[in-house]
Amino acid sequence: CGIFGYVGDESAGPIVYRGLETLEYRGYDSAGLALREDGTEALTIAKRAGEVDELSVPEGPSSTCAIGHTRWSTHGPPTDANAHPHTDCANSVAVVHNGIVENHEQLAADLPDHEFTSETDTEVIPHLLEETLESDGLRSDGGSQAAGTTDVPVALRRGVESVTDRLDGSYAVAAVHAGSDCIVATRQESPLVVGHGDDASYLASDVPALVEHTRDVTYLEDGDVAVLQAGTVTVYRDGTVIEPEISTIDWDAE
Ligand code: GLU
Repeated sequence: CGIFGYVGDESAGPIVYRGLETLEYRGYDSAGLALREDGTEALTIAKRAGEVDELSVPEGPSSTCAIGHTRWSTHGPPTDANAHPHTDCANSVAVVHNGIVENHEQLAADLPDHEFTSETDTEVIPHLLEETLESDGLRSDGGSQAAGTTDVPVALRRGVESVTDRLDGSYAVAAVHAGSDCIVATRQESPLVVGHGDDASYLASDVPALVEHTRDVTYLEDGDVAVLQAGTVTVYRDGTVIEPEISTIDWDAE
């Protein structure tokens, strides 16, 4: 039950993998990560039941934006298929989630054309995102912008806002889209902290995973939506940009 995210100018896979290791103390039964490949506009997913050290970071793709997850199963047993990240049918968005989507069955019933590949309550989130992004004009075939008009981070943020509005339950959610180096994250009754670096932005369930990278953090509040890009974090509250409150961590992680 942990989330870690990185977007910056360094190789994202090893940084996110290390982040998952530092979240191990929270307990988990599966681990996984999604890399947004530079240039090719594709997402590479690696995930499996078991320990973080049984997971390998895919070495092929060069990536400067990735999200990772350690899972504590609530819906669906700890299997490779149920491990996070979860994706939509087109593999254009990847989502990690801590918490419980209580109304996942009702929400999935509204998506008859979507093929689900896991038994989790989480998988409804990427499928709802896919629907929302398509109706917002973002093509799902690798994330290209429709007619050059749709800005991926804006569409992804709007999509996450409208999808999480429909969720009952508790969640910390992070999403990436194949079309842009950007992480969109939000929370409701589940912890989520943003780390501000010089040329990089970080996301974690808990501060100890961040302190080796930065001591400047923002604790997201319920309903806040953060858009992380390399070295820039924009926080939205009730649809409006707010100035994120930055706390400086003055203690050392073990
Ligand atoms: N409810 C989700 C699942 O079972 C997320 C569990 C967690 O918080 O790790 O996959």
